[in-house]
Amino acid sequence: MAELVPIIQLGNPILRQQASLIDDIHNPDIQNLIEDLMATVAQANGVGIAAPQIAESYRLFIVASRPNPRYPNAPEMAPTAMINPKIIAHSTEVVKGWEGCLSVPGIRGFVPRYQKIQVEYTDRNSNLQQQELTDFVARIFQHEYDHLEGILFVDRLESNQDKISEQEYQERIVNNT
Ligand code: ZN
Repeated sequence: MAELVPIIQLGNPILRQQASLIDDIHNPDIQNLIEDLMATVAQANGVGIAAPQIAESYRLFIVASRPNPRYPNAPEMAPTAMINPKIIAHSTEVVKGWEGCLSVPGIRGFVPRYQKIQVEYTDRNSNLQQQELTDFVARIFQHEYDHLEGILFVDRLESNQDKISEQEYQERIVNNT
């Protein structure tokens, strides 16, 4: 049974650790962790969540883009568990877009990310997957990948002026797009 688990927040040292590789994907603890992450991200209106955000420092995240109150314009996709993920190539083009983080509540940032990335990960059935991701889904992947390296989106901002409150974001950005 999937459980809703508390999300740790900015300042918790686990968010600053390098996460560990997973060697046994079929281990029930890892499969349960995937279920807990999927339930927790759906309940929190997130579009992605990384294991370190629930204090499990493993190289695993969920990408779960779908329109919701926090991201009304997100594209729809099936929630996907990505284990031991890697970025194997990326575009030279970098685009800035708005991000938030369940571990950094109340803040949005205008973050530069590669527009297109080639990624590799192992899925929850132990199959190696390669995909090309673009735009918003590429942004989610890069944000979640950073969590495995102990990096948060606020570290990526080019200027403090690219940081605004959630309320201002909802009023000014969402309502104008
Ligand atoms: Zn995050």
